[in-house]
Amino acid sequence: KIEQLELLASVEAVTKDGTELTLLANISSTKEMETVLKYGAAGVGLFRTEFVYMDRTSFPSEDEQFEVYKQVAQQMGDKPTVIRTLDIGGDKQLDYFPMSEEDNPVLGYRAIRISLDRRELFKTQLSAILRASAFGNVKIMYPMISSIEEVRQANDILREAKLELEARGEPFRSDIPVGIMIEIPAAVMIADLLAEECDFFSIGTNDLVQYVLAVDRMNEQIAHMYHPFHPAVLRMLKMIVEAAQKAGIPVSVCGEMAADERSIPLWLEFGVHDLSMSIQSLLRVKHRVLHTTAADAKYVAQRCMNMRTNAETEEFLSHFNESNM
Ligand code: PEP
Ligand code: MG
Repeated sequence: KIEQLELLASVEAVTKDGTELTLLANISSTKEMETVLKYGAAGVGLFRTEFVYMDRTSFPSEDEQFEVYKQVAQQMGDKPTVIRTLDIGGDKQLDYFPMSEEDNPVLGYRAIRISLDRRELFKTQLSAILRASAFGNVKIMYPMISSIEEVRQANDILREAKLELEARGEPFRSDIPVGIMIEIPAAVMIADLLAEECDFFSIGTNDLVQYVLAVDRMNEQIAHMYHPFHPAVLRMLKMIVEAAQKAGIPVSVCGEMAADERSIPLWLEFGVHDLSMSIQSLLRVKHRVLHTTAADAKYVAQRCMNMRTNAETEEFLSHFNESNM
C-alpha cells in the first residue's frame, strides 16, 4: 500500500473539485528530512526543536542551533519552515536542566513559560532561528501561549535578539513571520485578541484536546476519554478559525487530528487549508483529499456540528470515510 501511496508524492493535494490544500510535515529531528523530501511535503509546518536540546550535557550554543535550523531551511528552500521555540516541561525533560518535582507538570513550568523565565536561553534560540531565516522561508512559532502578555514579552526578546544580530552584522529576515500555537482553551477564548498580536495561528490539537477535556494525553487509563471529535473541541476549532479569518491571518493545524483523514471534510468546510502532520501520515491524508469535494465537506461538517457526542460523530465520520473512497 505504501508503494502505491508513494506515487502520490509528486501529486498536488487538490480536492476532486479543485480546492488546494497545503500538506506540511511535523519533524522532531533532522533525520526525518530525507522522508519529508521524498514524500513531497509542501514544507515543515512544525519543527519541534526539543531534539536539538536532548541527548547532551549542556544547552546547545547559538552556532550549534543555527547549523541545525539552517540545514532544514536550506533543504526546504522557498517552502515554509516553521520553527517552534523550545517546548520542554510536561513530559519532556533535559538531563542538564533540573526541574523541580511538580504535582501537575502538564499545567506547570514548561514551554514559553520557561523561555520567558530564562530569557538568555530564549534569546539564544531566537538568534539562531533569525540567522537561519537568511537561508530559507523561516517562520517562528511560540508554544503554549495563554495570554497577550506572553506574546508581547516574547516579541520584546525577539526585538533584542534582532538588535544584537544587527550590531554583529549577521544577516536575517527582519520581517520574519511570528505565529503562535493555539493549544490552551484560554487562547481559544481570546483568539480574536491574540490574532492582533501575531502573523499566524497553528492549532495544536494534541494539547488542546487534553486541556479542553481535562484528559491527560499520556495517561493510558483514561485514553478512551481522549476525544478529538468531542463537540466541545469541534466548537473551539470553529471559534479559532473564525477569529483568524476575521483578523485576516492564516491558520493551520499541526496536531495529530490533522493526520486523521476522517477530519479532512471538517477542515475544508471550516476553511483551513494548511495541515501539518507526521510525515508517515501525509500521503494517506493526501489520498483522502483527492477524493473529497466541497459538497462532501459541507454535508459532513453540518452534520458533525449538530451532533451531541464524540461517539456519534466518530461513527458518522468513519462510515462516511469508508463509503466515500
Ligand atoms: C500539539 O499540542 O498539538 C502539538 C502539535 O504540539 P506537541 O504535540 O509537540 O505538544
Ligand atoms: Mg503541544
